Amino acid sequence: MIKSALITGITGQDGSYLADLLLEKGYKVYALRRRTSVPIMENIQHIENEIEFIEGDLLDLSSLINALKISNPDEVYNLAAQSFVGTSWDQPILTGQVTALGVANMLEAVRIVKPDARFYQASSSEMFGKVVETPQVETTPFYPRSPYGVAKVYGHWMTVNYRESFNMFACSGILFNHESPRRGIEFVTRKITNAVARIKLGLQNELRLGNLDALRDWGFAKDYVECMWLMLQQEKPDDYVIATGEMHSVREFCEIAFGHVGLDYKNYVVTDPKFFRAAEVDLLLGDPAKAISTLGWNPQKTTFKELVQLMVDEDMKKVKQQSNN
Ligand code: GDP
Repeated sequence: MIKSALITGITGQDGSYLADLLLEKGYKVYALRRRTSVPIMENIQHIENEIEFIEGDLLDLSSLINALKISNPDEVYNLAAQSFVGTSWDQPILTGQVTALGVANMLEAVRIVKPDARFYQASSSEMFGKVVETPQVETTPFYPRSPYGVAKVYGHWMTVNYRESFNMFACSGILFNHESPRRGIEFVTRKITNAVARIKLGLQNELRLGNLDALRDWGFAKDYVECMWLMLQQEKPDDYVIATGEMHSVREFCEIAFGHVGLDYKNYVVTDPKFFRAAEVDLLLGDPAKAISTLGWNPQKTTFKELVQLMVDEDMKKVKQQSNN
């Protein structure tokens, strides 16, 4: 029997890696597609023809019900969100509508149309925010520090609630920051690796950043989507922290990224107050012990250094290609 999956947020970093993984495993992959005047397909161009798109929007319950009827999925992965923390202060209401209420809409659609479908919710380490303990585990209380984090807490608890209230196979993956060459350019990691490539190739001469001392637990997105899938293959639904268990600063990221192409970040990085956050999440560090023991997760599959270097290498290729066109 061929399994089928419905993914929301497929054009994003995680959605595209997850689609790659599910196609490799022989799934029929459906994706909810929000209508935009110009489709954003960069991350999924290579698999576009293998995916069945269904028009819909997380804000519109009837479109979700329709998407579930068409796809009749074994698994639903809800990855769509207004996912940039910085923007969530400029658009707090929209962030709440999409990132919080969008989850309720999706859970409702699943409950109404296909209650035995397995459901994955993309929760986030931003829910821990002003951390009350370090490292953070599945039972660490949340203290979100941005409208995005607040919205994700709602989505997380709705997922737990639908599991407990309706006996649905609903899981929440509390993923710490995860990066890749497919990461949006507004996130600090990709902003840095793209700038490193542009500086190396003589297209830019400085990089303006915010807080260089911010610490994050950064992993590789391609490794993290495997955990999403694994969560839905377990006997029982549950919530898991997915993290590397290592913390690094933005400064360290810069050091390795610039160093990889033979440059010293100190000569190029300029601090700009524009990129500081209204409230900062200072030290996010996850403890992935439960995922290691239950899912067989290997947090060292791709090391921090390898991740930074592979992102720089990809951006060198991309920027070279763009400047040749
Ligand atoms: P987030 O953890 O989801 O907010 O991921 P980001 O990549 O946007 O930010 C990670 C950390 O990098 C945050 O603590 C930011 O304050 C810090 N940071 C420092 N400079 C910048 C910058 O120029 N852009 C962004 N996006 N973040 C920055």
